[in-house]
Amino acid sequence: KNIEKQIKIIQKLHARLTHIRKEYVRDVVTRVVKAKPSFITIEDLNIKGLLKNKHLADCVRKQNFYYFRICLEQKCKQTGIELRIVSRFYPSSKLCSCCGHKKVCLSLSERIFICDQCGIEIERDFNASLNLKYAMDYTIIT
Ligand SMILES: [Zn+2]
Repeated sequence: KNIEKQIKIIQKLHARLTHIRKEYVRDVVTRVVKAKPSFITIEDLNIKGLLKNKHLADCVRKQNFYYFRICLEQKCKQTGIELRIVSRFYPSSKLCSCCGHKKVCLSLSERIFICDQCGIEIERDFNASLNLKYAMDYTIIT
């Protein structure tokens, strides 16, 4: 009986966490859209591939990427913001957003992007986001 009780409590906690994570996604999407960008570019991540990586799977699942995309699509449709999607093969993390030089190898642990060509030091995700902003090869989804 006690074990059953504990299981119920844990299930409730998980449900609550799921709810909090979804709420967070909705909040982020709302904030992005409220900034009234002329367009938003997202990357078509290989989620299934990421889920196969046991070091990433749990984090990827908890980030609700798919839910994020659905929310973003809905909001962009409602507000008339152009939503662009870039191929998963576009090397957004490996390109230098300053000079366009492409790094041959970039490990996931390198959080600061340092360009071998122009020497710029820039936060990895910020660099990738600039590359997505400048991407010319994309599909418009909304
Ligand atoms: Zn560079």
